[in-house]
Amino acid sequence: MTTSRTAPIVSCDVCGGGPSAYASFRAVVVILIGFHVRTRSGGFCRDCGLAVFREQQKFTLVAGWWGIPAPAGLIALLMNASQLARINRLPPPRYDAGPPPGIGNRFGRPLRPGRPVGQSPALIVPILLAVAFLIVCCGPRFLYD
Ligand SMILES: [Zn+2]
Repeated sequence: MTTSRTAPIVSCDVCGGGPSAYASFRAVVVILIGFHVRTRSGGFCRDCGLAVFREQQKFTLVAGWWGIPAPAGLIALLMNASQLARINRLPPPRYDAGPPPGIGNRFGRPLRPGRPVGQSPALIVPILLAVAFLIVCCGPRFLYD
């Protein structure tokens, strides 16, 4: 059986709560001239979707800048943000229907969202790289002008 990307998904793939929505969050590792994309897709409730979004964003913020294809990391960050908009419209997860098959002992326990991306230490990496880039390109005088 195949599942359409637009079909309504009843329960979260992680915790079994509902409602949920399909989302696909990407994390990118850039090394010199290559990059690798790790995708986590599926039906997510609001809490699990937010947790996966933050994990993937933080990973990309740290690992997505170390080579020529760095724009791939930036594109992944923007695509993840657009996926999160759909997840954010969901109400908090509920567990009225009982555990769906395949959830196991994770039922009723959504992932912890963790710290917002803007408050994460992962944000230090792109900020330091931007400052280093400015120093290399413009010289240290940009700090004093
Ligand atoms: Zn969930």
